[in-house]
Amino acid sequence: MLSVYIHIPFCKSKCPYCDFYSACPKDESILEQYTEAICARLMSCGERYAHRDVGTVYFGGGTPSVLGAEWLCRVLSAVKAAFSVHPNAEVTVECNPADVDRAFFETLRNGGVNRISMGMQSANEDELRLLGRRHTAEDAEKAMRAAREAGIDNVSVDLMLALPNSNFEKLKNSIDFCAKLGADHVSAYILKIEPGTPFSKMADTLCLPDEDGAADQYLFMVERLRALGYAQYEISNFTRPDKESRHNLQYWRCGEYLGVGPAAHSFVDGKRFFFPRDLKGFLDGNEPQADGEGGAFSEFAMLALRLTEGLKREVCTERFHDGGALYDTVFAKAKKLPKPLITADSEKISLTAEGFLVSNMILAEILPEE
Ligand code: SF4
Repeated sequence: MLSVYIHIPFCKSKCPYCDFYSACPKDESILEQYTEAICARLMSCGERYAHRDVGTVYFGGGTPSVLGAEWLCRVLSAVKAAFSVHPNAEVTVECNPADVDRAFFETLRNGGVNRISMGMQSANEDELRLLGRRHTAEDAEKAMRAAREAGIDNVSVDLMLALPNSNFEKLKNSIDFCAKLGADHVSAYILKIEPGTPFSKMADTLCLPDEDGAADQYLFMVERLRALGYAQYEISNFTRPDKESRHNLQYWRCGEYLGVGPAAHSFVDGKRFFFPRDLKGFLDGNEPQADGEGGAFSEFAMLALRLTEGLKREVCTERFHDGGALYDTVFAKAKKLPKPLITADSEKISLTAEGFLVSNMILAEILPEE
């Protein structure tokens, strides 16, 4: 199974913490031009990878909802024309709550979209303003209602934690709001100050929690979401039963994916490649750039240990000819680490919520260098 990722590099305004590749279009004609370019590129990729079944399609950004439901469906039709898309494929579109209504979701659903990822980030108005979001919590509530009325039964909500001036009460309000909305899935990321963003220039004035404060918020969030019926299955992802993101699981299980659009990355046939962060170059038909080999044991193990299902000996032996020995080497190191961080036996190694907080340190300790 192949997964297809489509990058929509447009936003209506730029959030001051964000370093994703996106631009604010001054002229709407670029949206149509981009749609045509993506469709043409999909058709040429389809010729190359036509023999593969597609199990998930994901429209990310940027803000895909800025493209509008009709253009998104046009791109999805091109994916279906270019590849053999499985009838039960998961098809996700990221949306800003300010862009959507029932008609938008109905068009998407009729076009084959069956999952929405909504960028809410917080339910607190002061935080939304500070983050430069152009929606309110009420917009998120209306968007969720509209999605349900349109028959979309799989909606994920994005949250951010460790925000400026944040505290447990505000975080609890945002988490509980997700549950009140009836979100099927929650993705919750600790705010990271990215170099070159407006937040990085004003970091000293932002009143951010320190590392311990951010860790406490993370552990609070894990517990609160669990109490509300969301099981953690990845460092930053939580789900109601059977609503895991199949697309993201493909990444974390080191499966193959094809990314189309500027800044989109791919991993196919053991090779990594990407389109540069250059919209004009993409529109001009520039080819993707090679990014070396992928899928070695260390990378596979590093991704597996992001998941609560962890690294399994059986899967290692199926995937690598010396997978059993590689697993045993990792296990020998993992069992020396303290219990609150990791659980390890001869069949499976997984990190605990405390371990996820220091996963970089643990991975450096237990994985082989390559
Ligand atoms: S809407 Fe999303 S992609 Fe666009 S600037 Fe904000 S965070 Fe970044």
